[in-house]
Parts: sequence; structure tokens; C-alpha cells
Amino acid sequence: MITWKGSEPIETGAAFYRRTVCGIGEWQAICEHQSCDRRGARGGGRGGKPEIDRAVAAARRAFGEWGTMPVAKRSAILNRIADLIDQQSEELARLETLDTGKPLSLAKTLDIPRAAYNFRFFADFVKGLGTEAFQMDDVALNYVLRRPVGVAGLISPWNLPLLLLTWKVAPCLAAGNTCVIKPAELTPTTATKLAEICQEAGLPDGVLNVVHGFGPDAAGSALTEHPDVNLISLTGETSTGKAVMRAAATNLKRVAFELGGKNPNIIFADADLDDAVETTVRSSFSNQGEVCLCGSRVYVERPIYDEFLQRMVEKARNLVVGDPFDERTNVGALISEEHLNRVEGFIERAVKEGGRILAGGRRPQHLTRGYYLEPTIIVDVDRRCEIVQQEVFGPVITVQPFYSEDEVIEQANDTHYGLSATIWTTNLKRAHRVAARLEAGIIWINTWFLRDLRTPFGGMKQSGIGREGGVHSFEFFTELTNVCVKL
Ligand code: NAD
Repeated sequence: MITWKGSEPIETGAAFYRRTVCGIGEWQAICEHQSCDRRGARGGGRGGKPEIDRAVAAARRAFGEWGTMPVAKRSAILNRIADLIDQQSEELARLETLDTGKPLSLAKTLDIPRAAYNFRFFADFVKGLGTEAFQMDDVALNYVLRRPVGVAGLISPWNLPLLLLTWKVAPCLAAGNTCVIKPAELTPTTATKLAEICQEAGLPDGVLNVVHGFGPDAAGSALTEHPDVNLISLTGETSTGKAVMRAAATNLKRVAFELGGKNPNIIFADADLDDAVETTVRSSFSNQGEVCLCGSRVYVERPIYDEFLQRMVEKARNLVVGDPFDERTNVGALISEEHLNRVEGFIERAVKEGGRILAGGRRPQHLTRGYYLEPTIIVDVDRRCEIVQQEVFGPVITVQPFYSEDEVIEQANDTHYGLSATIWTTNLKRAHRVAARLEAGIIWINTWFLRDLRTPFGGMKQSGIGREGGVHSFEFFTELTNVCVKL
């Protein structure tokens, strides 16, 4: 019996997963599936080095055909995958909710439609992709060839499983690479479904392979250390990025990392308060706060601090925490008991360090089973406190007042992270001025999570290496060769 983190104990991922294959095409299910009470037991197979070796070999064999296939043909297959995701969106959303505990309404409106769009976007984008040419007067002409790199290892996290996986798979395949996927051990199901969909869409055997398993000393490390893997794209924790970078260094693999964040939300006194409060509640507690882009440090200019806080607290308390399958639910269950304990540990230590809880801070009384936590707002914390410095990755935010533009910029930049930031102001000059000084890869002004897939996505400092999106994804997933022709 597998215990789901939602309100009812039910058999989910593992039951579904046991009958599926790991990977498509020439290599078949080889993971050991077992249910136990350890992390990842809900369905992640125990793939390790032998499985990775077989998957990489299959991907290498498939590279020749896929890498040289006309772009229009590759693009058509990717568009078919998008269509099939759309056609199966109800089922995929249900599975995503079963695996993660996120509200079904979110899986239906964000995770699955975006997964389909990731394929559609890169399928179209690749057709318009060009390269440079430079003429050296009448001496020579340089032009650049863009080619696929080879076999990519794609490692994804559990918070937006299919969305983030397809964000890597789609440009990887569009560019002509083949891949071995290592999904998060806690959320294997939609990755397996994706493999089935790819097969149905006509993706040639061996182009996409899925190996389920754990990270360290298991499938993850076997993939990152494999000598025949050329690229590693990882989304995960900053500490995982460091481990993967060490492993990838053994044969100098190219790496792209999307890592953790501790994102500041800066609200100036002239902001549209209704909009700022509404959106800040969303950016704090969406997906139980388990989004790398969630704004977990809220800075409010002193004149509106009390009013803002009072309105935030009221709204946070009114969020419905509960069964992810109930349409009224705003906040579902956290990913695992281990993670819930970890998040509660952050709250306890914040209180010990002088923090005051204004909303939430505990498991909801009416939910006796499942890994639920009330949306939590903590104030009166010092900027050096752990809760202000470390990524919690749960429905927990701190709110602090600030007195000047310089002060808030300095505080916002005072972490190892640099993923995203949000600025709320109606002063246009100030908005641009502050955006230019914040250390973050993505900055939103008077909005949050508004994404144009052509733009660079990624983090500064310890939030990542490289950028994804539009041409930036192809910078990673292709090799450039300059050809110099003497005239
Ligand atoms: P995680 O780092 O624990 O795991 C991510 C993936 O890496 C999993 O598939 C895991 O099995 C694998 N892994 C772990 N150790 C490994 C190793 N030594 N070698 C190879 N693979 C290894 O992250 P998580 O808990 O699944 O996800 C939450 C984290 O991801 C948070 O820090 C969050 O901020 C980050 N995240 C970042 C972005 C972004 O775009 N920047 C998006 C989503 C999540």
C-alpha cells in the first residue's frame, strides 16, 4: 500500500507505474519497482548504472537518424506530441495531482497546457533558427553551422514535473539531440506517460529514454558521470547543482542549471495595493509555495506596511487548504512527509530566532491525514535569520518593512540566490532603476509569472548557470562550427 500525501491513502504512482516501461523503443522496463516506506517509494523505480548504461547506448544509436532528420519532419513529430498531450490533458492533470498533491485546478490550467505549449513553441521556433555570417571584405566569408550535440541527460524536480521536464525535452529534441531523462523520484508518473505519448506520436526508437531512480549514488549520478553523455541539464536544488557539476567535470560535459531561489517581492508605497496584495498572495502560496519563482521575502515600504500586512494576512487565512481534487482548494498537500517536516523545522527555528507568526504556521486542524500546512506569514525576523536566507520551498513567507530604495535593493541582493524578483510601483522611472540594480535573472514589474517563452529564463549567483527559453535553449543544445571560406 502506498500512502498518498492527500486526504486518502490510495495506491497511486506505483500501481500505475508498475505496468509501464521505462523508456521507449529499443530498451524496455528494467527498473526494479517496489513499494516501501522510503522516499521515492510511490512509484520511482530503482534505476542505477546498468539501466543508465543501456539507456545511453540506445540514445547514442538513435542519434544518427534523429540528428540528421530534416527539421520540418522533427518539428512535425514534436507538434504531434503537443497534440497528444492536449488530448490526454485530463488524465495527465489527474496523474500530476496524484503524484504531487497540487490542486487539480492548477495542474489543469498551468502544468499540462504549458507542457503541450513547450513542445509546440520549440517545434516552431527551431524552424526559424538561423546562424551568423561575417564577410571579411573580399578576403573570406565566415558562416556558422549549427548542429546537435549528441546525447543529453535531463534531470528534473518534483514541483512542476511535466512542465519542467518538457521545458528541457522539447528544445533538446528540436535541436536534434537524443536524451536520457531522470525524473524526480517522487513524481515519476507523467514522465512515463510522456514516453508513451512520444511513442504514439512516432518519435523514433531510442530518441527519448526514461530511467527512474534516485539522484546520488543511483540513476542521477550514473547519468551525470557517464562518459558518453555530452550535455547535462538539471533543474533542482543548488546543492544538487554543485554535486552534478563535480560529476560532469570528469569528462567536461556542458551543463545548464536551474536551481533554487529566495526571491524578493518589493512593494513600494505608490503601488496599486489591490493588485499587489492579490498577486503577492498568489506568488507566495501557489503550488503550496513549491515553485522556484515564488516570492518568499516580501519587503513593504513603511508607509503602507501595516495596511499591506493586514490585507495579506486576511487573504492568506482565507485560502482553502485541502483535498487537491476539490475545485475549491487553493493550497494542496506538500510533496512528502519529509518535506513537510523540513518546512516546519524552518518555521520553528524562525520563531526561536524572534520571528512572529501572523498567519498559519501549523497543520490545518480539519485535515488529520496528508501533508498539509497552512499558508504562513512570519514577521519581525532579522535579515540574517535562516528563514530570510535559505530557500524553504513551502507556503512560508517573511514580510519586512523598508524605508528607502537603496536599503531595499541592498537587502534584496543579500543572499546567495539570484533567480527572480518582483517590483510593485506606479513610478516608471523607479521601476526601471530598481530592476537594473537587482541581482536576479528574471524581474517582474507589477506582475508575476507572466512568461514569454522567447525570453531568457535562469538565475544569477547560486540560482543557476545558463539560460533557457527561445534561442537561449538552442545555445545550450547545439554546437556551433565556424566555417571560414577564402574568397
Ligand atoms: P533536487 O535537487 O533534490 O532533485 C532534482 C533532481 O535531481 C531529481 O531528479 C533528483 O533525483 C536529482 N538529483 C539529486 N541529487 C543528484 C545527484 N547527486 N546527481 C544527479 N541527480 C541528482 O530538487 P527537488 O527537491 O526535486 O526540487 C526542488 C528544488 O528545485 C528547489 O531548490 C527549487 O528551487 C528548484 N527548482 C528550480 C527551478 C528553476 O527553474 N530555477 C524550477 C523548479 C525547481
